Amino acid sequence: AAKSGGKGRHARYDATLDERAATDAQMGADLRLALDRGEFHLLFQPVVQLPDGVPAGAEALVRWTHPSQGMVPPDVFIAAAERTGLIVPLGSWILREACRQASLWLRRDGASQPWRVGVNISARQLREPGFASQVAEALRESGLTADRLTVEVTETAVFENGPAVEALTAISHLGVSVALDDFGTGHSSLGLLRTTPVDILKVDKSFIDGIPGREEESIIATAMLQIAEGLHLGTVAEGVETRAQVERLHQLGYRLAQGYYFDKPLPATEMGAKLAAAANHSAISAA
Ligand code: C2E
Ligand code: MG
Ligand code: MG
Ligand code: MG
Repeated sequence: AAKSGGKGRHARYDATLDERAATDAQMGADLRLALDRGEFHLLFQPVVQLPDGVPAGAEALVRWTHPSQGMVPPDVFIAAAERTGLIVPLGSWILREACRQASLWLRRDGASQPWRVGVNISARQLREPGFASQVAEALRESGLTADRLTVEVTETAVFENGPAVEALTAISHLGVSVALDDFGTGHSSLGLLRTTPVDILKVDKSFIDGIPGREEESIIATAMLQIAEGLHLGTVAEGVETRAQVERLHQLGYRLAQGYYFDKPLPATEMGAKLAAAANHSAISAA
């Protein structure tokens, strides 16, 4: 749901439940127009190796620069885009744009390792008939190979019923990875792992925040890692903000992380430069 409060810059889109329907209609129209006018762009937050921070991938995060309100964060408009259905064309643009950008970087700069781009996919998109063909088409038109793409879905998005599992199975068959985003915060986290093709667990920031201070948090983070390892899944620790977290997570056995300690979401040019630097560095060390 849209967050209320905040700095008041997005007051127009803050709404109580009563006002939501009216706001949604307005928002739906605004989002449609914004898409036609090219007001969206993607930032990329590096996913990095622990403890050295070498980039191992990037997550695409959408931003909307509203002509009068400035930057509107996704927390404000994604939920409304889902309710109004605008997420379908918007999400399709995001997927294609992320693949296009990643393919460009990889062709121009190369990659030192199995570098991947992650794209967030909402519940509504997963349930669109033919979603897997949309993914295949985005790969085909960009020239990105399937092993370079990860789709990020939340437990809640997958949970509801059958069709999402079918879509994820079809995506897996393409060779695209599936990451469970915000892992541990939805319903039925563990049950899902039995029934859904999943490759990566993104351990939610709420489980990372208390590390290294609270021992319970380390115990939970370790248990999640053990489940992942037992099932041959990758893990990413989300929302790492301090050096102490980096050290403790590395000690617990985490190998990948994402967070402000390393990088905030970056413009595409900065992300590309980081990727090029990493590729260069590994070429030099290999020589
Ligand atoms: P998410 O997929 O879990 O993305 C991670 C969010 O955490 C991002 O916020 C990122 O900027 C933020 N973050 C990363 N590291 C840190 C940290 O160290 N500290 C803190 N406090 N925050 C950190 P963002 O970009 O505002 O996105 C919020 C959510 O909106 C995303 O959560 C995702 O659910 C959704 N979203 C963003 N882009 C897209 C998109 O292209 N499509 C869809 N369907 N949803 C998106
Ligand atoms: Mg995500
Ligand atoms: Mg996440
Ligand atoms: Mg999150």
